[in-house]
Amino acid sequence: MELLFLGTSAGVPTRSRNVTAILLNLQHPTQAGLWLFDCGEGTQHQMLTTPFNPGKLDRIFISHLHGDHLFGLPGLLCSRSMAGNVQPLTLYGPKGLREFTETALRLSGSWTDYPMEIVEITAGEIVDDGLRKVTAYPLAHPLECYGFRIQEHDKPGALDANALKAAGVKAGPWFQDLKAGKTIVLEDGRTIHGADFLAPATRGKSVAIFGDTGPCASAIELARGVDVMVHETTLDASMEEKANSRGHSSTRQAAQLALDAGVGRLIMTHVSSRYDEKGCQRLLEECKAIFPDTELAHDFAIFSV
Ligand SMILES: [Zn+2]
Ligand SMILES: [Zn+2]
Repeated sequence: MELLFLGTSAGVPTRSRNVTAILLNLQHPTQAGLWLFDCGEGTQHQMLTTPFNPGKLDRIFISHLHGDHLFGLPGLLCSRSMAGNVQPLTLYGPKGLREFTETALRLSGSWTDYPMEIVEITAGEIVDDGLRKVTAYPLAHPLECYGFRIQEHDKPGALDANALKAAGVKAGPWFQDLKAGKTIVLEDGRTIHGADFLAPATRGKSVAIFGDTGPCASAIELARGVDVMVHETTLDASMEEKANSRGHSSTRQAAQLALDAGVGRLIMTHVSSRYDEKGCQRLLEECKAIFPDTELAHDFAIFSV
C-alpha cells in the first residue's frame, strides 16, 4: 500500500498546503484499488498533479462533515462523471453525508452517470473486500467523527510441495486441505498435519487514518500495533489546552498515542495554518522527542506501508 497526501493543512488552505485529503493506493496485484480519505476543497485540483484521477477512485471515506474535509466532494463527483467514468463508487461517512451530497447535486442541477452508493456509517466494521477490512472508530470532535483502521488479512504461507513429495504424499485433492492447515489421513493410515508443511503466514499490513480528534479512549484501539498511524497535530504542545477545547490534538498527544499504541511509524498532518515551514519543523521535533519514528506529511508526500 501507498499513502499520497493531497492536503495537509487544518481548517484553511495555505500557499503550500491544501486542506485534508489522503489517497490510499492499494497496489494489490490482483485487486487494484484507489481509496480517498476526506475530500477538502480543491482535492480534484491536487489530483491533477498526480498520476491519479477521480475515475480511478472506488471508495471515498469521509471522517466528518467539517468543510475542510468535505467541500471538495461535490466537484470531484461531478468531474468524475463528466470525464465519462462509469465505474461504481461508494462513499462512507457519518449521518448527513447523504443529505449533503444529494442536496449539493440536486440544487446545482448536477448528476452522476456512474452507480454511486452512500453508506452512512456507525462505529464498527464497514468494509471487508476479502483482502482487507476497514473498521470505523468514533473520535472526540464537535461533529460526529471517525477514524479508520485498514487491516489487510494475513496471507497464508505456501504449501511446500517438495517436502510433501519427499514424505511420500502424492499430489491430489487433499492438498487443498493441507494448504488450509488441516490434518488428513492417507490411504496407508498415516496422519499428515498440513501445518507441518506450510511456510509461515505473511502478516497483513495495517494503517490507522485518524479524523480530527482530541485524545479519546477509542484512539488506542484504532491505532494499536499498526504499521503506520496518520494523526492530526493541529497545534504545538504549548497550545494543548486550546487544541483540546476544539476537539484537536497537540503534537505531544499524538506522539504519546503512537508510543502507547505501539505503532511502527507516525505521520503527522492537519497542521494549523499559523505555522510556516520553520514552525512545522518545530512541531516535528516535538513529536520526535517522544516518538522518534515520526514524519511530517507535506502535500504530495508519498509513504509506503
Ligand atoms: Zn479539520
Ligand atoms: Zn473538524
